Amino acid sequence: MVSPPDPATGPGGIRDPGSLAVIGAGAAGCACVAALRRQGWAGPISLWESGRGPGGRTATRRSRTDAGLRIDHGAPLFNLTTSPPPALLEPLLAGGWIEPWTGPIAQLDGQGQLHPGGSAPHGLGSLYRGNGGMEHLCRGLLEQAGADVEIHYGQLVRHLEITPERRWRLLGPDRQLLKEVDWLVLSGTLLAHPRSRLLLDWTEVPLAAAARRLQDAQLQHVLAVLASIQSEARSNLLLLVPAAAAAPWRKLPFRLLEFSEAAQLRWNLSRLSVQPLADGRCAVVAHSSATFASEHLSVYGSRSSIASQLGVAPRPEQEQAVIEALSAALQDTLGQALGRWLSKAALRRSLAGERQLMRWGAAFPRPPGLPLELALCPASRLGFCGDYVAGPGFGRVEGALRSAEALAGRLLAAAAGGSPAAVNNHCESSRGPAPLLG
Ligand SMILES: Cc1cc2nc3c(=O)[nH]c(=O)nc-3n(C[C@H](O)[C@H](O)[C@H](O)COP(=O)(O)OP(=O)(O)OC[C@H]3O[C@@H](n4cnc5c(N)ncnc54)[C@H](O)[C@@H]3O)c2cc1C
Repeated sequence: MVSPPDPATGPGGIRDPGSLAVIGAGAAGCACVAALRRQGWAGPISLWESGRGPGGRTATRRSRTDAGLRIDHGAPLFNLTTSPPPALLEPLLAGGWIEPWTGPIAQLDGQGQLHPGGSAPHGLGSLYRGNGGMEHLCRGLLEQAGADVEIHYGQLVRHLEITPERRWRLLGPDRQLLKEVDWLVLSGTLLAHPRSRLLLDWTEVPLAAAARRLQDAQLQHVLAVLASIQSEARSNLLLLVPAAAAAPWRKLPFRLLEFSEAAQLRWNLSRLSVQPLADGRCAVVAHSSATFASEHLSVYGSRSSIASQLGVAPRPEQEQAVIEALSAALQDTLGQALGRWLSKAALRRSLAGERQLMRWGAAFPRPPGLPLELALCPASRLGFCGDYVAGPGFGRVEGALRSAEALAGRLLAAAAGGSPAAVNNHCESSRGPAPLLG
């Protein structure tokens, strides 16, 4: 067992709060780094991300060989349903990183009828999107963080260790030391959730191994809560419609189509996101239903960065079979519900375009999530943020942003040697947003 830090001073007083690493550069990780700097964290900060760039589930797919390609293959937009908005929002809007979403949204019912307007959970409240791609949400957050943040993309943090001085060691896949820091923030659950063992064949949950040395009862509790969080998956078909076939897609009366539960049962799809590109082509993302994705969980897209980092061999035949199944679902939906706008011939020409699979193993956490008051373990100098933290916006970008801002305030209070009550006050005041909707 290692000895706990002196609670009176923290690791160094607020002028020297110590070094901090954030694992994950999705909306929560980027927002946490931005909020820490905005709120005055003066110590060194590093950010570690296994993907090729920032974004996580708000990433935008691009291509080195096709400059015009841009597909929001995860969240196509985000919404705020509580007020006041996160403090990080206004600078994102002012900097042009995000913009209000103005595209029409429609819902498809089980009879194939279209109804205008968005629905819960993603279509209500104030709607926004990344300006020029959803990844600009995270890029804008990182700009707010300033240049003085060490950022590492393409780096999976595979193991965590704790030193006798209670400092965190981040290790790569070959157990090489990446960084040693005073404070650690996990913005994803991969290192703390048993799914890493089940899906990735890891022998242990990395955080559980470190937690045994810390003997921190709160952390043990957090691990148990995190282990109980389940997620819904999504398998998304990305279709790049050639310019010659794109006109009917642009004329559809929606940019985002949400499927009712009955429609999901009927067509195996949950959403259709239509994303016209500047060069005349149109990207279409057909989001599978949760049920479809759960039946095809083991099939990764060939461009999956986590699959390649973990050495999961591509299985082109299985991937093609999932692509065909999703294409057939799309064809059925269009034929049965949207034939007015898209003829069979137009559809055939569209499906001749490039098709890819994007599988999200943990697309949406299921409630209740990690209670906000557990999201900082001061004795272990460990914090958690992300859409899996309970509270307003749970399971959405809003929750990722709010949990990150809340955690940043509590980390600063804890690093300043705040009493548990002061740290918890931060938790109470950050819990406060009120519903925007009646
Ligand atoms: C298909 C889809 C559609 C969605 N639609 C909407 C929507 O319309 N509106 C909405 O609000 N939300 C939507 N969401 C949910 C939204 O995308 C998430 O709530 C939000 O992006 C979560 O952000 P996060 O930072 O908590 O997690 P993530 O975005 O998952 O970020 C975690 C990051 O950590 C990295 N990471 C994890 N472990 C490690 C490690 N050990 N080493 C290095 N890096 C690591 C991951 O690569 C990832 O980039 C959607 C999600 C999906 C998948």
